[in-house]
Amino acid sequence: MKYLTVGPSGLRKNVPMLIKEALENDVCSISHRSKDFENFFSRTVSAVKILFNVPENYHIFFLGSATECMERIIENCVSKRSFHFVNGAFSKRFFEIALELGKDSKKCEVPFGEGFSFDSATIPDDTEMICFTHNETSTGVMIDLNDVYSIKKKNPEKLVAVDIVSSAPYCDVDFSYVDCAFFSVQKGMGMPAGLGVMIVNDKCIDKAKVVNEKVSIGSYHSLLSLQKKALKNQTPETPNVLGIYLLGKVCEEMNSYGIDRLREETDEKAKMLYEFFSGDSRFSLFVKDEKLRSKTVVVSEVLKGSFPVIEKVKEKGFVIGTGYGKFKEKQIRLANFPQVSKDDVEELISIMEGIEF
Ligand SMILES: *Cc1c(COP(=O)(O)O)cnc(C)c1O
Repeated sequence: MKYLTVGPSGLRKNVPMLIKEALENDVCSISHRSKDFENFFSRTVSAVKILFNVPENYHIFFLGSATECMERIIENCVSKRSFHFVNGAFSKRFFEIALELGKDSKKCEVPFGEGFSFDSATIPDDTEMICFTHNETSTGVMIDLNDVYSIKKKNPEKLVAVDIVSSAPYCDVDFSYVDCAFFSVQKGMGMPAGLGVMIVNDKCIDKAKVVNEKVSIGSYHSLLSLQKKALKNQTPETPNVLGIYLLGKVCEEMNSYGIDRLREETDEKAKMLYEFFSGDSRFSLFVKDEKLRSKTVVVSEVLKGSFPVIEKVKEKGFVIGTGYGKFKEKQIRLANFPQVSKDDVEELISIMEGIEF
């Protein structure tokens, strides 16, 4: 089966081989306090930094999931108030986590499928962190990172955190304007779930020290604890060792393939999918504003409902996603991640053209 689902998603082609190699090298049994572990921790950090063009002075931390990254970044960098741009389920989750942590956070919310008029958002002066979701996986809206940078330029003293879960590694983040970005690996990295990756600068770490004097910043996964161990190429707890190992290998592979080439291919495949859906009257693209249409998650309404088409493409070997939440039976969502080849996209399109539903 080919999985064009948006998370978990299909594995990258050689991930099974890399897992086999890892097992042969006893990666799952070696101590996380050993030199061997420290070596591949450091190798993974370097490969992540190259792939995401992360400045040397940023830190890479390994957590359990992207959801955990949301919780930790708020818990550690916000004593009272964060501000969130909410346009779907994941950006909403980020905001709700802040509330659940007892913060008096505010949001700018627009309906599912829409973008923001960033200029008109009123961000309270006492906001400590502004939170964005680059690619709303629930709706297929990808915001323009230039809008994020403009807001940072206007609010240089506020921290900026960006969820890049379903746009990584396609996203091209300029870290001069972003203090924290995070992702998990079961989407565009094409790996098994169970690892969250947080990229943070010293401003976040310094803020955690200040917050720590007023409220709890948590225990083993506080930024301070993660930082202390990362300096030794270690983690506070026994981590997902296999995940950290695989991530290094996958990033190295993407680095040698070339991130620009990978981005161009993503654009090309997205174009094919959007052209297909636009030209077939049985479908109607959910995101009306072309500029907001995600390159990595393509969402279409299916006029007669999503289940028949999902069933029929499954019979031909493709698993595609349903709509999110209340759109489950109305929409389909397709992951256009790097592990999905141009041939896969062509084949899926010709299957959809050929079936009746
Ligand atoms: C999937 C997803 C998450 C949550 O990731 P987990 O690894 O399940 O915690 C967060 N944000 C976005 C945009 C996502 O697509």
